[in-house]
Amino acid sequence: MQLLIGEFLNIASKRTIRSKQKSSSIIKNEINVYFKSLRSIQLRIAVIFPNKYRIGMSNLAIKILYSLWNRFDQVYAERAFLPEESFTIPKSLETGTLLQKFNVLAFTVQFELDYTNILRMLKNSGIPLFRKDRIHGNYPLIIVGGTAVSANPLVLSPFVDIIFIGEIEAAINDLTEGLFYRDFELLAKVDGVYLPSSPPKEIIYARIPDLNATYFPTNQVRNTSDKNWQEMQVLGGFLLQVSRGCNRGCKFCLIGKLTRGGANNPMRERSVEKLLELSLEGTNKTRVDKISLIGSGIGDYSEMSNLLKSLNENKLKFSIPSIRADTDYSVIDEVVKNKQNTITIAPEVGSDDLRFSLAKRITNSQFYEFANYAKSSGIRSMKMYYIIGLPGQLDDEINHMIDFGKKMAVIFRQKRDLNITVGYFIPKRQTSFSQSFIDGKQIDQNEKQAKLLSNGLKKVASLHMPSKNWSIIQIILSIGDESLAPYLVKVTETSGHFQDWVKVLKGDPVRFLEEMQKMELVIPLEIK
Ligand code: SF4
Repeated sequence: MQLLIGEFLNIASKRTIRSKQKSSSIIKNEINVYFKSLRSIQLRIAVIFPNKYRIGMSNLAIKILYSLWNRFDQVYAERAFLPEESFTIPKSLETGTLLQKFNVLAFTVQFELDYTNILRMLKNSGIPLFRKDRIHGNYPLIIVGGTAVSANPLVLSPFVDIIFIGEIEAAINDLTEGLFYRDFELLAKVDGVYLPSSPPKEIIYARIPDLNATYFPTNQVRNTSDKNWQEMQVLGGFLLQVSRGCNRGCKFCLIGKLTRGGANNPMRERSVEKLLELSLEGTNKTRVDKISLIGSGIGDYSEMSNLLKSLNENKLKFSIPSIRADTDYSVIDEVVKNKQNTITIAPEVGSDDLRFSLAKRITNSQFYEFANYAKSSGIRSMKMYYIIGLPGQLDDEINHMIDFGKKMAVIFRQKRDLNITVGYFIPKRQTSFSQSFIDGKQIDQNEKQAKLLSNGLKKVASLHMPSKNWSIIQIILSIGDESLAPYLVKVTETSGHFQDWVKVLKGDPVRFLEEMQKMELVIPLEIK
């Protein structure tokens, strides 16, 4: 859907001059920061990651939003992160402006556990938490987007003005106009916009049709501090998005479901030529020689081998989040040529039967063959992801996971060369498993299975086990609805530790979860 774009938006022709207001000291270590003269600005947006700076600066959405909005002459987007200290008043990095002074606060939320961080930032900024309490008063509009709220917009709906579901580039002009004029009739017509004040029954996931034709920032803001800081980052170097969406439909996965919607081909790819062009420009502008390749369904990228080959030919280092075991092995050859020691796979479970029932169609034999090839080609270590608590995952399955891990340990002989990260299954709205009932019995079983797995593999692999406690809170936030609002507010008044959650959730989060699931939990929204 296209709306008329008025005089308001012009793409900026050049960087503008430094604001006189006080920047954060962090800025002095950053490159590619936008500074603009506030005199010519008509819309000030704080792009906010509701967690610490170190985590947020590895987030591609922050970098995209920051550059995308700053391309408009009349818009100034600044960044803000959750302050290190709980009760500190948050300010923008660029000009040290209080959040209350912005026209728009745009939060990107990837994890449900960050919901209370959003409320904490609003509270510490003196901004009323509930939307109804901001109607009279000169407060910023609050918009949230990201995977967590796209799956379930209900939990944050009493607090925020707009929830954006989808890909921002598909709606940036119309959305920005709507925000500038505070025109909710206009906003309601924009793809991906969910207005909690008048919730729609269905919504179109805002989707860009052609990734090659879509703007991607090469001038990514980056912290150039010392090596220690760089190593603490989740993702370093120039972040390069290879693809969007995923054509697979793994039953537990949100990405596969969300990006599918009504689309015949939810996965969209950038061409090798385009990616090489972006890589050369991006590494030059961000002054790095390393690229972090990103994409939810990246394992299916059709030109992966050619892409890696051309990055190698141009002497660019790269990292890949994970590789499908049924991929063309020339991908491994290119990874080895890039002098990388580690590869990552996601078997999730240990038996073909369960894996296939989850719609993840790769066999154990394919994983072993892949691992053997990688090891014999010069890859030193392997990272793997496992999930515990999936529907139908009995103790027998944990034994299969142990066997699978032990077979991998035979290939990657040293304990330090086999890293296994285990996560508890968190049901997500919109997925096939959204109605999974998780009670105390299931949670106890998950914990027992985690111990079984840990005991079975701790001698042969480095294990990263999940937190049972936080998984319970995450499930509540993942499948809950507006009725959680008073509890979230109460947690915001505390330090937010797990024990604070226990007190707020009537002393027993598991029982709270059970009671919550006895009520109607069907989400009244269809994402198309
Ligand atoms: S392949 Fe990965 S991104 Fe795609 S649906 Fe499965 S788990 Fe999700």
